[in-house]
Amino acid sequence: MKLTLTEKLIKNSLVEGSLERGTRIGIKADQALMHDLNAMMTYLALESLELDKVKINLAVQYIDHNMMQADFKNDDDHRYIQDITSKLGIITARPGSGICHQLHLEHWGIPGKSLIGGDSHTVAAGGIAMLSIGVGGFDSAMVLAGETFYFTMPKIVKVELTGKLPPFVSAKNIILEVLRRIGVKGGVGKILEYTGPGVKTLNVAERSTITNMGQETGATTSVFPSDENTRQWLRAYNREKDYQPLEADDGAVYDEVIKINLSALEPLIALPHLPDNIVPLSDVLGTKVDQVMIGSCTNTALNDILSVANILKGNTVHKDVDIGLYPSTRTVIRESVMRGAYDDIVSAGVRIFEPICGGCNGNGFAPKTDGISLRTTPRNFYGRTGTKTAQVYLCSPEVAAASALYGVITDPRTLDIDDIKYELPERFLDDSNIFVMPSLSPDIVPRRGPNIKPIPPMEAMEDTIKEKVLLKLDDDITTDHICPAGAKYLPIRSNIPELSKHGFKMVDETFPNRAKEAGGGIIVAGENYGQGSSREQAAIIPRYLGIKAVIAKSFARLHLANMCNWGILPLTFVDRRDYEKISSEDILELDTSNLKENKIYTLVNKTTGEKISVQSPASQDELNYIKAGGRINLVKEKLKG
Ligand code: SF4
Repeated sequence: MKLTLTEKLIKNSLVEGSLERGTRIGIKADQALMHDLNAMMTYLALESLELDKVKINLAVQYIDHNMMQADFKNDDDHRYIQDITSKLGIITARPGSGICHQLHLEHWGIPGKSLIGGDSHTVAAGGIAMLSIGVGGFDSAMVLAGETFYFTMPKIVKVELTGKLPPFVSAKNIILEVLRRIGVKGGVGKILEYTGPGVKTLNVAERSTITNMGQETGATTSVFPSDENTRQWLRAYNREKDYQPLEADDGAVYDEVIKINLSALEPLIALPHLPDNIVPLSDVLGTKVDQVMIGSCTNTALNDILSVANILKGNTVHKDVDIGLYPSTRTVIRESVMRGAYDDIVSAGVRIFEPICGGCNGNGFAPKTDGISLRTTPRNFYGRTGTKTAQVYLCSPEVAAASALYGVITDPRTLDIDDIKYELPERFLDDSNIFVMPSLSPDIVPRRGPNIKPIPPMEAMEDTIKEKVLLKLDDDITTDHICPAGAKYLPIRSNIPELSKHGFKMVDETFPNRAKEAGGGIIVAGENYGQGSSREQAAIIPRYLGIKAVIAKSFARLHLANMCNWGILPLTFVDRRDYEKISSEDILELDTSNLKENKIYTLVNKTTGEKISVQSPASQDELNYIKAGGRINLVKEKLKG
């Protein structure tokens, strides 16, 4: 049987199910990655399950997301993480060594292996032909405990690349083009597999820019073949032994096809406030810019930094532009310094930050009030930067650098310079001392700061839900809407009671108090509820505030899994038009005594008397988690024996 590359990768890790589309399948992951912000819930869950050692071949913890040290909270989290990872057998990167996805690619990623990561952009590793999937903190905990990871076998989309990118039109424009065509919901239930002669023209860093931001299409993951470019890249990191060629069989059958001629691409830009709000750059040329941020796991590999340096070299950024750069890793910094690129960037007037997520997740470098910020990040969700009134545009590093010079959105192709010809070094400097090996000592007692609170207990679901609709929301509610990003909120992510006071802050500041007063409730939403990140606090907060169910037109994959893990019942309308039959404050009643996969339930609107048919997209296992009040309750029971 002829197989796609995706099918081959899934087969490598498959332990339950088949490749039949739409069926539930289980894989055993070869590797796991976690970062400090989401891993707090992972380790608190593992502690409450009393796991003494992880059961996976390779687990790596990064400390890159929550780095502000305005007080003790974040540093306390890091100390707790360092203690518990050492005890459990998890390798840990020193704080501030680099952004997890880039560091993992550089040091641990292996073509053909599978990676489950506690962050949505784990999918970046698809750039070296890994099956890489982002999950929430609790699913990470289960993977670390050696449990099978389940998901629905996605459709496989062939993204056929031909031609070659023109000068100053870099890889970011390929994924912006994909987003322009299929939007932020277009990848749901699918894996994007890149093929065609254009693939050979892209290096690994460019490929991982594309797979990384593929997350914004809602796709389960994206994947590139492993070829000579992959081999050279691994060799530069002294890991050629990890190389194996991997590609689809000739004649493999795909469920859908997208064709992109790279030679015909032009610079694109995403307007506020969604990554698929894309127009040609030419539509917004001349727009005044207040801030430029070059960074994130999407766009600060070596090639990006060299390209920015090439544009800024010998120039000074515009006086009205505040520009900052977050490099991806220590290795990239060192190589950029050796090539003189850092000097070109610093002397042009760029502020250099640590190699961390930083401004990307609202943890620093927020724009000013009403500021227009041009960013190379993958997301421009409303309020994500920490400044609610900011207007964030997403673009390539080349557009960002050119615009910083002129103070207005500028096409880099109009500059009087040549594009760089990027070459990998023969060998990057050895940076393996970034990693600290675990001691695996059972005597370690992880030190907890006062802000670290245990996971609150969760009650089992009753046999009838009768609750008020506390929020009626539109389409595309993101995890940022539910659980705000920004330097004010990130340090309390390990303190659910405190964090819950800010639930849905971006939508309705009264929600936490209303939920508390009502003693629970239901949320109604439009399409793609929960799009964005793996942040499971976006499920835990509503659950903690008593939300029993969310009825939406559709859900984002990762958030759906998080809701099920934490005991919130996801329901969809059998007839989407029934969304109109529910208003805020209506009382809804549902019989939840017998939760069954694919069952159609009758929801009664007690306020209007109307009956509405709904069903749950959750699997039977997930419905069992919900009925038990959350997966943690079931796993505890199982471990007790
Ligand atoms: Fe970090 Fe931003 Fe990448 Fe998320 S998208 S991993 S916050 S750099």
